[in-house]
Amino acid sequence: MGTGLNDTAFYQERTHTTQSTTAHHLLDASTASRYTMPRPTRPITPDVIAGALHRLQTRVDIDPRTNCVNWTGALGAGYAALNVNGRLYSGHRIIAVLFKLMPGDSPLYIDHTCMNKRCINPEHLNAVTHAENNKRAWERGESFDIALINKNKTHCPRGHEYTPDNTYLRPNTAMRSCRTCRTAQKRKDYLRAKAAKQVANNNNNNKEEGPQ
Ligand SMILES: [Zn+2]
Ligand SMILES: [Zn+2]
Repeated sequence: MGTGLNDTAFYQERTHTTQSTTAHHLLDASTASRYTMPRPTRPITPDVIAGALHRLQTRVDIDPRTNCVNWTGALGAGYAALNVNGRLYSGHRIIAVLFKLMPGDSPLYIDHTCMNKRCINPEHLNAVTHAENNKRAWERGESFDIALINKNKTHCPRGHEYTPDNTYLRPNTAMRSCRTCRTAQKRKDYLRAKAAKQVANNNNNNKEEGPQ
């Protein structure tokens, strides 16, 4: 520390500390963790299974050609959606837990090997990681995770480049925003608030000076 011999080490350390506070460094670390983060899902407890079971057994239509067990109830993003005790669950995920393809609190994704989202046949379901799910979708030519598409974008929607200096990471989500656009938006908000205040002031003044 501070001795001649350690100067190089000292500067390397400093460089390292400085870098760790720049957007560039945060971008690498946080986006990496964000895009490999498991999807947050509600745990599927025995209660949830019990509450959904009857519907999962009866509101289905079996396709004799493919053996797909097609859910005939409400869909969410194309998947079987069930309200159990006031909360929404995916039917295929409940089935996956029921048939022990994964534990109820698993962050794994369920891949439909039949490529039929509304199917809840456990034989057509596969518990896989997020990465594996994306890889399979990619290989089948399906549209894959929007987060991965966004990650590969190099410019903001208005065409400003996501350079380290121009990239702001939202603290809670680690999603990128464009600093140029943020600054422009803040300025717009400020001017709008200022104009609104002016109007309010004028109205007050008019009231005070109004006819008796
Ligand atoms: Zn199927
Ligand atoms: Zn921008």
